[in-house]
Amino acid sequence: MHPGDEVKEDPRSSLPAVGRLADALAKSWPDLPAWARVEGARRAVAAARRDLDADPGAEPPALEALEAQAARLAAGLRRPRPGRVINATGVVLHTNLGRAVLGAEAAAAVSAAAAGYGDLELDLDSGGRGNRLAPLREKLVILSGAEAALAVNNNAAAVLLALDTLARGREVVVSRGELVEIGGSFRVPEILERAGVRLVEVGTTNRTHPRDYEQAIGPDTALLLKVHRSNFEQRGFVAEVGLEELAEIARRHGIPLVEDLGSGTLTPVPGVELPAETLAPARLRQGADLVCFSGDKLLGGPQAGIVLGRSEIVEAMARNPLARALRLDKLGLAALDAVLRVLLEGRPERIPTLRALGADASELRARAEKLALRLGQRLGAAAGVTAEQERSAVGGGSLPGFELPTWVVALRAARGPDALAARLRQAPVPVLGRIRDDALLLDVRTLLDGDEADLEHALTFALGRTD
Ligand SMILES: *Cc1c(COP(=O)(O)O)cnc(C)c1O
Repeated sequence: MHPGDEVKEDPRSSLPAVGRLADALAKSWPDLPAWARVEGARRAVAAARRDLDADPGAEPPALEALEAQAARLAAGLRRPRPGRVINATGVVLHTNLGRAVLGAEAAAAVSAAAAGYGDLELDLDSGGRGNRLAPLREKLVILSGAEAALAVNNNAAAVLLALDTLARGREVVVSRGELVEIGGSFRVPEILERAGVRLVEVGTTNRTHPRDYEQAIGPDTALLLKVHRSNFEQRGFVAEVGLEELAEIARRHGIPLVEDLGSGTLTPVPGVELPAETLAPARLRQGADLVCFSGDKLLGGPQAGIVLGRSEIVEAMARNPLARALRLDKLGLAALDAVLRVLLEGRPERIPTLRALGADASELRARAEKLALRLGQRLGAAAGVTAEQERSAVGGGSLPGFELPTWVVALRAARGPDALAARLRQAPVPVLGRIRDDALLLDVRTLLDGDEADLEHALTFALGRTD
């Protein structure tokens, strides 16, 4: 070593210890809980260390910058999840936003079931053990006219339970046009494999004919499975075998026809003409032996898998030991019971999903114009605000290609729609809209009562008040 050669100190050694940074946070942000402060500090220091590893010549971050970063991380960690957001996308059943919103009756039922004891598995008349699902199954049967009904944790569970019960170790025939992936890793071929079922694919991607099914049915065929294409459409040179014809084939061969409907309803939805195949009771009348669908799609209830169909099949599913592993929890059960009661009472408008789907154009227009006026006054020159007519897609993964006429508030700001959308996601109550050309659209179809004030607040946060 020569004089003048410097031994450069490792810049990482100038980073504060995690404990010291967490203590500093406690002084500047006393509201942050200790666990979040410590974890935020640990992550901030680790990130700074990684940056210095990647670029050893860089200056280590200033303590204040590190503190601010740790506080941001801690605030993110302590935030309740899922946190409330405002859905202005117009997508009524938005998978990323939690699908169906429960109405007042169902929310109250969940709250009561959660916070107190209940006769979940007690027969109050005899004092003996009661069946937790019996009251729910009764209501489903009354509403649907099905021979029997069952509810499990979700629709994926319903499909798995049906296949395990009816077809384990045997063959199931499915059209190649229906080997779908729903998202969230629900793929029809994989579910079949998990259920220990041999998949027999018939037809081609775009066309499947009755003879394809006929030729595939053999001594080891357990059932025919029809799967709703919940998230895509086929157009052009296409052919599928209708339910009634498929039921006829199944009957001739003495095997059941099972339909995974995905999005199903039990009653017509007032104010909107949904595709006919969504009405589950009609599918049974057309010849399906078993139909299953989600509780939190078009039914507008909690996460659940609803099963309707022939008694011997449904009872066999209920007796399957897997049913216990796939069962609905008491909160979901309470919510679903409330939704079914509301439907039995003929009050579908009490279910937010159905209300949003059935909202009429004049009501939506009035709401959009009122909101546009309010936001226009509030934002002044910061953004162009107009009420405009549009079309909304109602469901991520429910009804592909099904759109409804709607009204939106279109916002045009100098910073552009992407930057505005990003800023609105950071608001105290984040707002999600959709982008069309140079505008961010806020669709009033999916706004809930009382959203307007928070929406106004979020926009002021994003654009600043200019009056
Ligand atoms: C949504 C859907 C499922 C999965 O239902 P979950 O309730 O989310 O488990 C399965 N099959 C089809 C056709 C669907 O649309």
